[in-house]
Amino acid sequence: MSRDALIFYSEFDDPRAWKATLTNELPDLDFHTDPEAVDPANVHYALAWKPPSGFFSRFPNLKLVTNLGAGVDSLVGRNDLPDVPITRLSDTGMVSLMTSYVLFAAIRYARDIPIFERAQRRSEWRYVHPRALSDIRVGVLGLGELGTPAAAALAGVGFDVRGWSRSLKQIANVKCSAGLETLDTFLGETEILIILLPLTSETRGLLDAQRLSLLPWGAKLVNASRGAVVDETALIAALKSGQIAEATLDVFTVEPLPKDHVFWGMDNVLITPHLASITVPEVAAREVAESIRLVRQGLPPLHRIDPGRGY
Ligand code: NDP
Repeated sequence: MSRDALIFYSEFDDPRAWKATLTNELPDLDFHTDPEAVDPANVHYALAWKPPSGFFSRFPNLKLVTNLGAGVDSLVGRNDLPDVPITRLSDTGMVSLMTSYVLFAAIRYARDIPIFERAQRRSEWRYVHPRALSDIRVGVLGLGELGTPAAAALAGVGFDVRGWSRSLKQIANVKCSAGLETLDTFLGETEILIILLPLTSETRGLLDAQRLSLLPWGAKLVNASRGAVVDETALIAALKSGQIAEATLDVFTVEPLPKDHVFWGMDNVLITPHLASITVPEVAAREVAESIRLVRQGLPPLHRIDPGRGY
């Protein structure tokens, strides 16, 4: 009997939760983790994170490839990608985790918490008069599935929020701009910069020394997308000079961040190990199931990406 099969590949993700939810949603789906245990001709769907080179070529009848994560930078450059719809994960659990991370990092700076953390280590009662959040300008680079809810949440707690993307967006209480020609002005008006851009050929190194220098003196930077969007050498120089006062970094050019990296020793850098947001399999698998249902009906799947554009 010919079965409608899905092949799962990840060295990081446990397939059990995915299998449970997917086969609950689609009882006729044949879920496999072992490419040797399935007839390649029956494999119509791939759900994979960084599979080895040549992985996709084994399955001649793929109809859908889903990246087992939100960022597709490791997938789009491959030379074995089949000419079928490519999708990424997105789920409400992932969105709320990222929103909470961004809110935490921005509020930590807005409420001068690093100053109090340092003062406490000196047993010092250090009063800093709080500023109204409405006076603090937060800029969100990237207004996609994660950036839009984060910008809306920042506006919701009262920050003066700006957002920047490739195409112009409309988000309540967020001043939006778009395109490279508006980036310099955007940076000049941003006290707390939140980076939620995908890593593409256009965004790699986008925040270089020149652009970082446009931020107001003493700005704060939060990078929760991909390390290589920022020129790390330029960021280190800016953090040393005080041009950028503080940074919260969840992502790095090299991960895990090497033990001898200069960021570890910087008192004005908060490091988290690439967990600003994670996929919640029980929720995301329902979206994957819905995409499979759509593809079975000959309709476009959810959360499709454009490999040519890079996101
Ligand atoms: P999306 O693809 O949904 O959105 C990307 C946004 O960036 C869009 O608004 C897009 O503009 C904008 N953009 C892309 N290229 C450019 C450009 N050249 N100039 C201006 N704007 C641009 O991504 P998500 O919001 O889902 O996620 C963002 C990134 O976060 C992911 O790519 C991933 O790398 C990272 N991530 C990190 C995690 C972590 O734990 N640290 C977890 C999950 C994701 P437009 O809307 O006009 O297309």
